[in-house]
Amino acid sequence: MTTPIYLDNNATTRVFPDVVEAMLPYFTEQFGNASSIHAFGSEVGGALRQARRSLQALIGAEFDHEIIFTSGGTESNNTALRSALQVQQGRNEVITSAVEHPAILSLCDWLEKHEGVVVHRIPVDRQGRLDIDAYRAALSDRVAVVSFMWANNETGTIFPVDGLAEMAHAHGALFHTDAVQAVGKVPIDLKTTEIDMLSLSSHKLHGPKGLGALYLRKGTRFRALLRGGHQERGRRAGTENAPAIIGLGRAAELALTSMAEDNLRMAALRDRLEQGLVQQIGHCFVTGDPLDRLPNTTTVAFEFIEGEAILLKLNAAGIAASSGSACTSGSLEPSHVLRAMDIPFTAAHGAIRFSLSRETTEAEIDRVLEVMPDIIAGLRQMSPFWSEEGARPDGFAPAYA
Ligand SMILES: *Cc1c(COP(=O)(O)O)cnc(C)c1O
Repeated sequence: MTTPIYLDNNATTRVFPDVVEAMLPYFTEQFGNASSIHAFGSEVGGALRQARRSLQALIGAEFDHEIIFTSGGTESNNTALRSALQVQQGRNEVITSAVEHPAILSLCDWLEKHEGVVVHRIPVDRQGRLDIDAYRAALSDRVAVVSFMWANNETGTIFPVDGLAEMAHAHGALFHTDAVQAVGKVPIDLKTTEIDMLSLSSHKLHGPKGLGALYLRKGTRFRALLRGGHQERGRRAGTENAPAIIGLGRAAELALTSMAEDNLRMAALRDRLEQGLVQQIGHCFVTGDPLDRLPNTTTVAFEFIEGEAILLKLNAAGIAASSGSACTSGSLEPSHVLRAMDIPFTAAHGAIRFSLSRETTEAEIDRVLEVMPDIIAGLRQMSPFWSEEGARPDGFAPAYA
């Protein structure tokens, strides 16, 4: 049995040993509550300040108090949108995209259905790029907040959030970005942007699960989601998860130190994977924006077969991948992201996401390239939709094949 190959890093990442090591003392000797006056508390308080500064450096926040620790990306997203709707009196519209993570989309569905909020879901094109004209048309002085993700978790497509934020401000709307997939993978310097709020999550960058942060630009009006103690300057009550915060701080330092070289290597491996698959296997194509996307992510659509079946065969070969969002897999619906990109059902159903990490090796990629052709050929043989000619029934032209 060969060692398993993990290519599902957009679902979650391995906690790096350095991160675990940094966290451990805060479970044992240094277990104090940071709010306490005694030495047990103040030692933890000092470590939390250091972690906050490390995270601040990773995202280019000007002030350390612009960071509010939360329980994860989902809480940060919920906090940001609800806060914006409350502080922007007289405005009850939200603009978002059709391809957001469920942590934004299902919140928006709820707000629309039960709280009278008007939601604009801006479409994307076949490469997953935002329809800027539709965005411009939806903007008005009724919009409380605009929320566009920085990078898509399924295709890796990057939205031009700097410019999108400026457009929101021209209409007095606040701008939030779900940057969970971007933080640690692309250089971010918030002080040079007009972004008001940004969500991030520790477990997507080799930190522990159950911890995230909301960046809140200095001076941005805010309403807390959770009320209670004075933690996080009263903006997020509840005793700080000190070990996890310290772990995220360490993960942020590691990401920042090696980002430039890691990204080059990951992008080269991703390209090797994509080219290998497309060359060896017919009737498949890479989705997403070929020019502006994350270095670690690729979703390849294999026509006329089921993604779930591919995943099971890959799993049997010791390879972990995904069919899009971890949150929607298990249902038979094809990914809402690929559907929004107008990728036909016959291809969207057979889409597989490979998400690499800084630890991914060339040998691992080559192993995937070794097993995939047989897996795909075997499944197509059993597929009622497959024929050698395999003409796309709807004449769909892939992003690039
Ligand atoms: C994983 C993910 C989230 C959710 O973050 P959690 O910390 O797991 O709550 C939100 N948005 C995107 C884009 C994600 O990839």
